[in-house]
Amino acid sequence: MKHFKKLINVDKEKRLFTAEGGIMISELNELLRDRGYALSVLGSISELTLAGVICTGTHGTGIQFGNLASSVTEIELMTSDGEIRTLSKEADGDVFRAAAVSLGCLGVILKVTAKCEEAFNLKQNSYGANIKDLLENLDVHLKASDHFRFMWYPHTDQCVTFHTRRTQEAVRRSHSWFWDYLIGFYLLEFLLWISTWFKGFVPLINRTYSRINSKPSEFIDVSYKVFNFNCLFRQYVMEWAIPIEKTQLALFELKNWIGNSGFEAHSPVEVRFVRGDDMLLSPANGRDVCYVNIIMYRPYNKLVAHAEYWEAFKQIMLRNDGRPHWAKDHLMTAKELRPLYPKWDTFCRIRQKMDPKGMFMNENLKNTLSYS
Ligand SMILES: Cc1cc2nc3c(=O)[nH]c(=O)nc-3n(C[C@H](O)[C@H](O)[C@H](O)COP(=O)(O)OP(=O)(O)OC[C@H]3O[C@@H](n4cnc5c(N)ncnc54)[C@H](O)[C@@H]3O)c2cc1C
Repeated sequence: MKHFKKLINVDKEKRLFTAEGGIMISELNELLRDRGYALSVLGSISELTLAGVICTGTHGTGIQFGNLASSVTEIELMTSDGEIRTLSKEADGDVFRAAAVSLGCLGVILKVTAKCEEAFNLKQNSYGANIKDLLENLDVHLKASDHFRFMWYPHTDQCVTFHTRRTQEAVRRSHSWFWDYLIGFYLLEFLLWISTWFKGFVPLINRTYSRINSKPSEFIDVSYKVFNFNCLFRQYVMEWAIPIEKTQLALFELKNWIGNSGFEAHSPVEVRFVRGDDMLLSPANGRDVCYVNIIMYRPYNKLVAHAEYWEAFKQIMLRNDGRPHWAKDHLMTAKELRPLYPKWDTFCRIRQKMDPKGMFMNENLKNTLSYS
């Protein structure tokens, strides 16, 4: 798909763009900006393809904003028989809703038409908060800005909140090599590497970095440079979407498990919010959700034990009606996934009809969708 990377059209009246499926979001950001437009929300990086983020239900944060696939209005798909079909949100009902978050198994996405908006700058304010206070006032935080998220530092009560708003103000941003790179990247990786021998060191690292990162800060930049941030070094991640009203309960369960188990969990646990949608396999299908992302870094690429943490997190998320992110570790089989999605069987029927010989299935998808 690397040659399918053109921005084909921007319909300024309808605020829709059409691009080829293989375009990198980073290129799309620049091309749209040249024409005065932007995507309304993004995940934490843009080095991903348009088709890839749609297929997996990739999301950013902001309770008024759905995942990226929810802004799609039309998909051009090459199916297993070589036919090229154009599926539209208005005309194709469940088939479109299956193709929008399809895990890549309905066909090859050639073109996508999706909503955009006039280019905008974002102002981001970040500051520290106590986890209990934050969760008790979650509604206030959610309404206070366009794109709210926070990070909790395990083994502490400390969070860092990020409030991000659209602004007319000009770009104003400074970088500190000392804090952003020397302390925030190189020293952290070194300390995490040391902690692979001295595990008791992890809570101290979390406490120290929660304090450093809690210092209030404010900057303004063009939208995609604020949505995206440095994800640091190699890592294992697992992320689930739970109904938004379960946020407090689930996070306290996780905090208790970490406190009682003796497992040294890396920071941060990232918490984001996404509007519900109607795509058959979207983790946000039918409900507004809170995405909780746990992380274990691999300093200097070293393998780090995390199975116990992953399994405990999975059980907590399942108890809280969670659904896993398709593009991250999830340890789930079709048997476990089916009850989580009201339209699971509809999706499987559509997949069977569109790709009867399983041309687009691989081992992972066979396990996930129970196909033999
Ligand atoms: C550093 C990092 C940060 C991330 N941050 C976030 C985040 O903030 N929020 C979030 O939700 N996710 C996040 N992710 C996950 C990421 O969004 C997904 O892994 C995304 O799918 C990757 O896109 P890709 O282009 O690499 O797709 P790939 O990994 O290449 O493909 C993903 C799926 O899409 C299918 N696919 C790709 N192209 C096509 C096509 N043309 N037609 C049909 N099917 C296709 C593939 O078959 C596969 O099933 C992050 C990942 C990384 C590595």
